[in-house]
Order: sequence, then C-alpha cells, then structure tokens
Amino acid sequence: MRIVLLGAPGSGKGTQAKRLKVELGVAHISTGDLLRAAVKAGTPLGVKAKAVMEAGQLVSDDIVLGLLEERLAEPDTKSGFILDGYPRNLAQANALDALLTRVGQPLEAVVKLNVPDAAIVKRCETRFEQEHRADDNPETVRKRLAVYAEQTAPVADFYAQRGLLTEIDGVGAIEAIGDRVLAALRSRTRA
Ligand code: AMP
Repeated sequence: MRIVLLGAPGSGKGTQAKRLKVELGVAHISTGDLLRAAVKAGTPLGVKAKAVMEAGQLVSDDIVLGLLEERLAEPDTKSGFILDGYPRNLAQANALDALLTRVGQPLEAVVKLNVPDAAIVKRCETRFEQEHRADDNPETVRKRLAVYAEQTAPVADFYAQRGLLTEIDGVGAIEAIGDRVLAALRSRTRA
C-alpha cells in the first residue's frame, strides 16, 4: 500500500508509522529522519538544513524532494510505503503527485491524525526531555505548529478533494490509535 500520514508535529505519525510498517510490510519514509541523518553526517545538504530545522521552519522543497526521490528508488519501497512528514505544503503535494504518476504508483490512502494543540505541546515537552531533539523546545514547537497551520493544513483539503483522506482521532493509547488507523486502511482496501 502507498500511504501518506498527515498530522501536526508530535501528533504520533512516527510512532504509528513504525507499527504500520510491520503490519503492512511496507517501507517507512520519514523526511524528518532523512534530514536528521544528513545533519548528523554533516553532508553539504545537512549543513544547509540544520539551521532551518532548528528554527522550526520548512527546509526547501527542492532539497526534500531530492532526498525523497532517492529514498523511493530503494528496493524496499516496491511493496509500498508510508510517507511520514511529507508533503508539508501544497507545492510538495503537487510534486509528489507528479512523481508518483510518472512511476505509475499513485497514492492509495491519506490518514490524518487529529490531536489538539494543547496535547501536542505536552507530548513534545516529554519528547524533548527524553530524546533531546533541539526543535522540540517549547518555543520552536509553537513555531512548528504555526507553520503546520499555515502551510500543511491545506494539504488535507487537497487529498480530501481527491477522495483519499481519512481522519482519525489521534488522542488516547498508542495501540488503540493504531487499531483505528489499521481498520480505516483495511476498510479502504476492501472498498
Ligand atoms: P519531523 O521529524 O517530520 O517533525 O521534521 C523535523 C523538521 O524537518 C521539520 O520541522 C522541518 O524543518 C524538516 N522537514 C521534515 N520534513 C519536511 C518536509 N517535507 N519539507 C520541509 N521540511 C521538512
């Protein structure tokens, strides 16, 4: 299956994607993870991306699309993939559409995890304490939420218009949320 997971930063996309990867036998592609790996490796691209990420802003569309294209060319994506953190704006949604149409592998479902901002702020505080991700500090989380509302939220409408969007309540126990996501995806493939 080819799936996009949408949701604000800290809405649980990464956590749910890890389970979906196992249950559905598909690749998990997180553009945030790809960027963090480039930053850690100190590649020219990583050096460029670091300050932008730490400011809670979006890395340029060209850079992220390049990383994504490379990743989608790897063999483990042949059985399908879950995109986590891409697309983040309408330009990226259009670029993804063009890319997947070109290779004859269109998206089959888009799942959006709905979590209220107050819960997001709490979750990111916990993640900041546990994982020390620089962009999880409270000030940057507020910035990332603003970027999400302004640039990423319209992406949900883009997919709703194409009949691909399912919205899931992303509050509650991790396992229960995962069950809801899987049930939604399975009913979609049966439909
Ligand atoms: P994430 O782990 O998905 O929350 O991403 C962490 C950071 O990486 C974001 O705040 C952005 O700075 C950057 N990033 C991840 N995915 C994208 C994307 N699709 N477009 C632009 N920037 C991204």
